[in-house]
Amino acid sequence: MPKHTRKTQRAAKISTKKKRDGLHRRAAVFAPWRLEFVLGPKDSACFLCEAARVPDGDEAAWKKLLLLHRDEHALIIMNRYPYTGGHLLVAPRRHTHELPALSEPESQSFWEQTRLCVDVLGRVMKMQGCNVGMNLGKAAGAGIADHLHMHAIPRWVGDTNFWPVIGGVHTVPVALDKLWDEMRPAFLPR
Ligand SMILES: [Zn+2]
Repeated sequence: MPKHTRKTQRAAKISTKKKRDGLHRRAAVFAPWRLEFVLGPKDSACFLCEAARVPDGDEAAWKKLLLLHRDEHALIIMNRYPYTGGHLLVAPRRHTHELPALSEPESQSFWEQTRLCVDVLGRVMKMQGCNVGMNLGKAAGAGIADHLHMHAIPRWVGDTNFWPVIGGVHTVPVALDKLWDEMRPAFLPR
């Protein structure tokens, strides 16, 4: 057998093994952090601060910003550049990049809202798993390095490039609007 054929066969074997082991999928899990960095807002305005300031009760403004929930110290917003449908961000209302700088009430609210995200994603999105985590600082891959935020990314088995079909729509911006409509009631007091 010619040398180059053996090489090709070996490469194909490795590629199959990688696929079987799900290595390609595991690599994809970490793609959103880079995607956010590439596609993130380039202007100087901080959209998390904007979400922190928008008036209570202005549902149209909340929807425009994809803001889902807020209390005195922290907020929950949909990621405009999601990896999967339902990719949420939790942020303190105060503009800070320092996790240790959060006060006790801010820390409590930050964690409570993260817990709430996981609860709502389970109920509304019927997720089967969730990636929850933070990238602190540019060196760690933070897209918005100046304003601390937690990611909550719902996952389904075999969900590489998964986008749930909502109202028969696959287009991301439209789906974000529809997803906001689906999720917003779940964050209102029951
Ligand atoms: Zn900010």
